[in-house]
Amino acid sequence: MSLSGDLTRNDVPGCKHASVGADWLPMQNGIIKQHPYCGNCGTVKNVSSDKGKNIGYFVNCLSKMKKDLGKKRYKISDAQIRLILKELTEMDGFSDTYWMTFSRQREIFVSVVKKYIKISRQTIESFV
Ligand SMILES: [Zn+2]
Repeated sequence: MSLSGDLTRNDVPGCKHASVGADWLPMQNGIIKQHPYCGNCGTVKNVSSDKGKNIGYFVNCLSKMKKDLGKKRYKISDAQIRLILKELTEMDGFSDTYWMTFSRQREIFVSVVKKYIKISRQTIESFV
């Protein structure tokens, strides 16, 4: 699955990203601002305050979820968590914090968790 969508991004798998310059581009709110971009793959850096988080953050969310729901006698298995993390880490760009926004990660996280654990969107969001 590719998440590139409306974001300017070329496919260089595993690119470590090194900013070389900046292009004048509109922000999500329409204001034109300088955006640094990667000299290797051309990915434009996310310069908004909506910064993506490392996968560790989502691992913590899942373990909190497992613990808290466990107290309410809703058991989440390690296998379910493994499947969720596998899907997230294999997803193109999910943990690439150079350009990924947190709001987008959150949206993806909720939809992946919902596939494996039958709980409401609200419940999932309360852990993110
Ligand atoms: Zn790059």
